[in-house]
Amino acid sequence: MYPIISELLARFNDDLDTQAIVIDEDALQKGVSALRTHLPQGTWLVAADTNTWEVAGAELAANLDDAGLSWERYIVEEKPDGTAPMCTDRRIEEFEAALQSTGAAAGIAVGSGTVNDIVKLASHHQKLPMACVGTAPSMNGYTSGISAVLSDGVKTTIPCTAPKVVIADVDVMAEAPYRMICSGLGDLMSKPVSNADWQLSAWLNGTYHSAEAMEIIEAGAAMLDGVAPRLPDRDRQAVAGLTASLMLSGLAMSVAGSSSPASGGEHLISHFIDMTAIAYDKPHDFHGCQVGVGTITSGLLYEKLCALSPEDIDIDARVDDLAPWSDYEKLLKQRFGPLFDAVVKHARPAYPSPDRLRQRLTQLCDEWETLETHIGRTLRTGDSLENELRQAKCPIRFSELGVGHDRARRAIAHSKDIRNRYTILHLGWELGRLDQWADQVLVRLATREDAA
Ligand SMILES: [Zn+2]
Repeated sequence: MYPIISELLARFNDDLDTQAIVIDEDALQKGVSALRTHLPQGTWLVAADTNTWEVAGAELAANLDDAGLSWERYIVEEKPDGTAPMCTDRRIEEFEAALQSTGAAAGIAVGSGTVNDIVKLASHHQKLPMACVGTAPSMNGYTSGISAVLSDGVKTTIPCTAPKVVIADVDVMAEAPYRMICSGLGDLMSKPVSNADWQLSAWLNGTYHSAEAMEIIEAGAAMLDGVAPRLPDRDRQAVAGLTASLMLSGLAMSVAGSSSPASGGEHLISHFIDMTAIAYDKPHDFHGCQVGVGTITSGLLYEKLCALSPEDIDIDARVDDLAPWSDYEKLLKQRFGPLFDAVVKHARPAYPSPDRLRQRLTQLCDEWETLETHIGRTLRTGDSLENELRQAKCPIRFSELGVGHDRARRAIAHSKDIRNRYTILHLGWELGRLDQWADQVLVRLATREDAA
């Protein structure tokens, strides 16, 4: 259906685990031959939750029967309180035990986030290949070699083998809960700001930037043209475009060997919301819905940065103000409480020495035009990002995610410490302006809310 996807899979064959991606209106039927070609013979353990079994698992199983293929069913149970399961260490171990006891030759995940993560990581541990049958265009993880796990109450991402085959039936994807469709779009809308962060870090820190991954990301972004306004009607072509774009985003991460091409400060804001939701039992939303709001926020923060000029930056004052790590560590303990141990591992290596800070800010000021020539080229304004999300009826405010003003402010001002990857949040902090920018962005969002 998408020649560009087959072309990329062939071209990056050496770097990718994924051999086939089937996106079509009857992919649950058409995908069976890809499974037969790329998974080893034997019994396949097909995992789903009760809902994803109903929307896609049962039909896939019937098609496997028709093709004379052997499979067994594994249901990922809901939590005792009836809410959706999470990908925890225990869930992974349980699925590993089932793979062993059934003598399975491969795992197949039918579902989006959790089921996918469980099967991916458990199969990886058991050195078995796996395939994924998507049920919602909600995230870009289908084709990525990363699994999101809740370990000791902290959400972490763990590298693993990506699926051999990914199947996405457009009819199933288009009938997913609408909030999940919003989530997929929100995850992809981050491109202008996450790429800006990626380039910012390459510029100021010399970190790796992959031209190949960038090319895949661009190809995926092109598939989103005109998609947003057609999503609320569940237009099949628009949903297929969104799905294909998500697959390419995941492939770009696999080619780059990291989530950097598709995950910057906007993702830190979303991860902060997830972490505080789990630790303090607060509301949260789908990953990409949070990323969408984080993206508007990041876009507005970049506007603040670009409105400065080198004369506004007093490098000596910034270096003098830099607290010693021991003081900052105390502050982190206060801020993160029960999450401190998980956070400090990431915060410590990211914390600059006075020399490093001076060097970075000096380079920023000396090469200020790079902001325009390199970083600015990928950026979009907060307004334009917001308008596109609004066309698709996606959440565009923290309040719509169940996140109040104070938690939103903390997400913007404090989330930089949860990962050691340089973003606009880190630069804003190093410039001594992040708190002020966070307040201004929140005022701006609130004002527009009144105006809307
Ligand atoms: Zn994401």
